[in-house]
Amino acid sequence: MIKGIALVLLFSAFAFTTNAASLTQESYYIYGKQNLRLFTQYKELTVDHVSASGFEVYGPKGLGQFITRSNIRAAVLDSKAALTRGPKYPTPEETAQRIQTAVAKYPQLAQMMSIGKSVKGRDLWVVKISKNVRANDNRPEFKYIANMHGDEIVGRELMVLLIEDLLSNYGKDAYLTKLVDTTQIYILPSMNPDGAALAQRGNANFVDLNRDFPDFSEKGNDKNTLDGRALETQAIMKWQATRKFQLSANYHGGAEVLSLPFDTIPDKFPLADLINGLGVEYATNAPYIGASKVFKGGITNGYAWYEINGGMQDWSWNWYKDLQITVEVSNQKYPDPSTVTYYYQQNRKALIAYIARVHTINQSRIVRR
Ligand SMILES: [Zn+2]
Repeated sequence: MIKGIALVLLFSAFAFTTNAASLTQESYYIYGKQNLRLFTQYKELTVDHVSASGFEVYGPKGLGQFITRSNIRAAVLDSKAALTRGPKYPTPEETAQRIQTAVAKYPQLAQMMSIGKSVKGRDLWVVKISKNVRANDNRPEFKYIANMHGDEIVGRELMVLLIEDLLSNYGKDAYLTKLVDTTQIYILPSMNPDGAALAQRGNANFVDLNRDFPDFSEKGNDKNTLDGRALETQAIMKWQATRKFQLSANYHGGAEVLSLPFDTIPDKFPLADLINGLGVEYATNAPYIGASKVFKGGITNGYAWYEINGGMQDWSWNWYKDLQITVEVSNQKYPDPSTVTYYYQQNRKALIAYIARVHTINQSRIVRR
């Protein structure tokens, strides 16, 4: 039904609606920024990765015809083409198996749990890493989420390597050991395994999961309710409600920058100094991001870059006071798998130091619900 509505809208006057999901059935790169406003005004369309040279736009079927009729210079974005080129990334099933193998070796330190299922019935696997992993006590809770956009694959690979790194170096590396002893670390390598399997941005129903969360600034979508949202989004929402995460990050691809809240409103973030400090520290610890020629110091405010409605980052802060940053980890969303080692080496220090920050962020400034 949503598709039908969107299609009618695209072919008629492009009337604005706040009810349709952001669908990702067609993808284009639009050259130049002069038509940005034309695309950002429609809820059915997702604009992403705006730069001086242009931006990505995703939408329901009919988007290409609209672009052609509007005489706008654009190129088709085809992430699936990567699937037929060169070496492949592991399937969701192979990834789950690899994580399972790592976890099974360290039953006191690691636990693998499903927080829900994707549209195609794939489990959303979370790994918890902590000393006495089943204790579920008052040690601070931290989380990483990657691959909510299925074609942004590098983050998923970094999470798998991080899991193996934390476990295999426990008892050998004093710093990592202390971190695992004192922290409840939760890692969800792939929030969108169906999208990952197809190298597509949206889930199996083409829903853009990072436009699918409640948004306090959006009339009609400002309640923290599950109704009408993708299964994957619902799984995250239910999981978050059962935990006390204090700090988190989510991993994307298509740029190399730390994107900091808010995404949905231009207002200064209440803990702007703290969140900017976290961003600067990450970018410093991941030198290729800090050295960005596009973003000064490798950080940006999300809204200043481009507005996002229904994003996970602002949602986690607004409803749970869980501080979250977005790590755009690789300019290419789906680079050759041989580059993953490079990205892990470049991010390792930042990945670990950021987890440790859950112990030093100033909790007295955060009003918890
Ligand atoms: Zn993304």
